[in-house]
Amino acid sequence: MPQASPSAAERAAVISIGDELIIGQSLDTNSKWLSERLTSIGLTVIEHATVPDDLDLLVRAIRRLADACDTVILTGGLGPTADDLTRDALAQLLNEPLVEDSASLAAIERWFTRSSRVMPERNRVQALRPASGTHLPNPNGTAPGIRVSRGSATLHCLPGPPSEMRPMFEDHVRPRLTSPAGRLIRTRVVQSAGLGESEVAQRLGGLMDRHRNPLVGTTASGGIVTVRIRDESADPVNVVDERVEHTVREVRRVIGDAIIAENDRPLPANVIERLRQRGQRLAVVESCTGGTLGQMLTAIAGSSDAFVGGWITYSNDMKTSSVGVPLELLAAHGAVSAEVAQAMSKGGLDLSGADHALAITGVAGPGGGSNEKPVGTVWISLASRDQPPDVRCFRIPGEREAVRIWSAITALLMLDQRLRAVGPARLLRQTTP
Ligand code: AMP
Ligand code: MG
Repeated sequence: MPQASPSAAERAAVISIGDELIIGQSLDTNSKWLSERLTSIGLTVIEHATVPDDLDLLVRAIRRLADACDTVILTGGLGPTADDLTRDALAQLLNEPLVEDSASLAAIERWFTRSSRVMPERNRVQALRPASGTHLPNPNGTAPGIRVSRGSATLHCLPGPPSEMRPMFEDHVRPRLTSPAGRLIRTRVVQSAGLGESEVAQRLGGLMDRHRNPLVGTTASGGIVTVRIRDESADPVNVVDERVEHTVREVRRVIGDAIIAENDRPLPANVIERLRQRGQRLAVVESCTGGTLGQMLTAIAGSSDAFVGGWITYSNDMKTSSVGVPLELLAAHGAVSAEVAQAMSKGGLDLSGADHALAITGVAGPGGGSNEKPVGTVWISLASRDQPPDVRCFRIPGEREAVRIWSAITALLMLDQRLRAVGPARLLRQTTP
């Protein structure tokens, strides 16, 4: 049964405001965060609009989306400066004057008093709101949020900084949002590696039909193809659960050999969790990735019980002096070679006392390539206690940063295969040198 198109009451939109987002200076993370929450409530997010600090464009975007959805969340443009235009846009759209909210003004003054400062006159504008609107208190900054109605739509205007926006959403927006009557959205995520996205799509075949419910879609990033399964209906829970489970079984049937996880956690988090379950620890020795792998692992809070640390051995000297790669190996085979990758991982394993060590050495480019070892040639070695080393060569296309990130992810995939006791299944971009 195809998914029915949602009504305005079931639809939501997010508007992100700010020149810095439009010119690419900062990334709009608010839309992602908000959409995850709106979706989990059962609302259907139909659009993310990003608009510059321009009054006309802002008014137009709000009008268009307030006509289409009953829930519109705006972030940004609530600061005290001339380019913060959300208040003015609301006033113009609603054809209402802005009024000063005395409680908000007092709260802003208190905010400054607490940091032993006097409120600059400029901040007074943050106490303004459309006459029919309501201010949402902001304990984490000076910008109060604003809630106003326009027709059947409610506009929730939140500050741009995520540290202010998120608590305000949780405290003052989320409690007012209700799942559309009886409407249920269930999502599942299956991650795969070793197949390209088009191969995954080919195997999924009719499962990816756009008129199907649950809807099945794919996203590819860094060698991992994520399959999303999303069911949306007003059917009873058991019917929905069975339908989703049936689709997941179908996905397993066609790409089962490539599935690495049935959750939406990033690969480093899944690898850390697998190590933890085994009571094992990992060390890394990185050359061309310069710490990218360590960065990915330490980005996972609490990873220190499974990740001990490592070495960045960028020069040949460091490869020798810190993890004991023999000079003769470097001279005979070059730094980017199976022999050196293996020696790096063995040195890392022995010196760290960890259970596994991953080593990466490659030509990230743009210079440094040769006929024999073109840019993108990367050797990765996995050394583990009581197991033979796993040493593989990859040819990774793309720019320097892409090569570095892909290499780090691929190293994690090699370890993941070992931890799941599969393989050595061939990974994407793997080559015989
Ligand atoms: P504003 O409320 O417009 O003064 O926004 C202040 C700051 O919040 C900006 O400089 C950004 O650093 C941050 N910010 C604004 N919008 C977003 C967004 N959509 N995602 C992440 N950060 C944002
Ligand atoms: Mg701004």
